[in-house]
Amino acid sequence: MTLVDAGSADALALEDRYTAHNYSPLPVVAASADGAWITDVEGRRYLDCLAAYSAVNFGHRHPAITAVAHAQLDTVTLVSRAFHSDRLGPFCAALARLCGKELVLPMNSGAEAVESGIKVARKWGTDVKGVPAGEANIIVAENNFHGRTISIVSFSTDESARSGFGPFTPGFRTVPFGDPDAIAAAIDENTVAVLLEPIQGEAGIIVPPADYLPRVRDICSRHRVLMIADEIQSGLARTGRTFACDHWDVVPDVYLLGKALGGGVMPLSAVVADADVLGVLHPGEHGSTFGGNPLAAAIGTTVVELLATGEFQSRSATLGTRLHDRLRALIGSGVLAVRGLGLWAGVDIDPALGTGKHLSHLLAQHGVLVKDTHGSTLRFAPPLVITEEEIDWAVEQFTAVLAEERAHRASVR
Ligand SMILES: *Cc1c(COP(=O)(O)O)cnc(C)c1O
Repeated sequence: MTLVDAGSADALALEDRYTAHNYSPLPVVAASADGAWITDVEGRRYLDCLAAYSAVNFGHRHPAITAVAHAQLDTVTLVSRAFHSDRLGPFCAALARLCGKELVLPMNSGAEAVESGIKVARKWGTDVKGVPAGEANIIVAENNFHGRTISIVSFSTDESARSGFGPFTPGFRTVPFGDPDAIAAAIDENTVAVLLEPIQGEAGIIVPPADYLPRVRDICSRHRVLMIADEIQSGLARTGRTFACDHWDVVPDVYLLGKALGGGVMPLSAVVADADVLGVLHPGEHGSTFGGNPLAAAIGTTVVELLATGEFQSRSATLGTRLHDRLRALIGSGVLAVRGLGLWAGVDIDPALGTGKHLSHLLAQHGVLVKDTHGSTLRFAPPLVITEEEIDWAVEQFTAVLAEERAHRASVR
């Protein structure tokens, strides 16, 4: 991200002038990163408590991941799916095994995995379930976040994601998140899938009631509807288990994976399911030039190997307890509520202290990088290599920011 001979002001000015303004980033200009830390162009260090929205679960430049990436750069990086590569089969085999499924469809971005999952569900509905062509419907949850393509924003309930982007894709039914009866009521003979985040990430790390996912699983099975779990942010050890669904012993029909699957290096996503579902795709019916390329596949294989050790899942579980305990201790001192599982915490701030955005600015000045999700909610999702001491230090900085803001508000009043 750094520019030769350009300080952070220059880099910011260039970005402001030439980059589309579809984000509103904190004024931190990263120049390098290592583990849980990011260093800016002026040499200031920040503890990364966002981890690129969980794409950097294994830390910045994990040595096993950069080693395989370097080696693959010197071997072969892209052949397209017109030919085979010696990396794709081993990656798909390893990922299928991790998921307990039979087939993997490799794609690139998370949104592409979601789009692909929707296409597979519709095709399955038409070819296997016998839904009349063009009549399939898919049930989704309010306040979902599944990406930014036209079809995906078609079933968003966030006005800023939709406004001005119509016309929209039909075929989706929205029900409240956390209410299995609403799903049962919305299902009809043309329903092909229920698409959910097991824990809603962008909505503010919303953990559903304990019986929700087991009941959704049961309803889907009884009505012959595919349960599709979007684990793009919640999966791959973020919550202390390989998949968030594991907390409830629920196995969906389809996993959608992305973000951390690419090891923080490559965009790599996947749809993972058994052959009775993914087998509906035949040559020519779906594809991607870069999907499953040798560089991404080599990295993805290493990611699956890291996950197979269980080390990151247990780190997230143990350190997550510490993070949640420390954050909950701030309830009453400017924090209203703390939600989440593992090293994934949504923290509601007293709106009287300012917006989430304002507090993330202040935290950045204290050397801790977080991101607001909605209004007054902050998300803490550090790389899973973070240490106990670093967690304590981050919460100390947060405590100091809250105290400063409380003092500031009191003096203004
Ligand atoms: C980030 C995210 C996506 C979209 O992934 P992109 O790689 O940004 O396209 C989809 N679903 C969930 C749950 C996400 O958090």
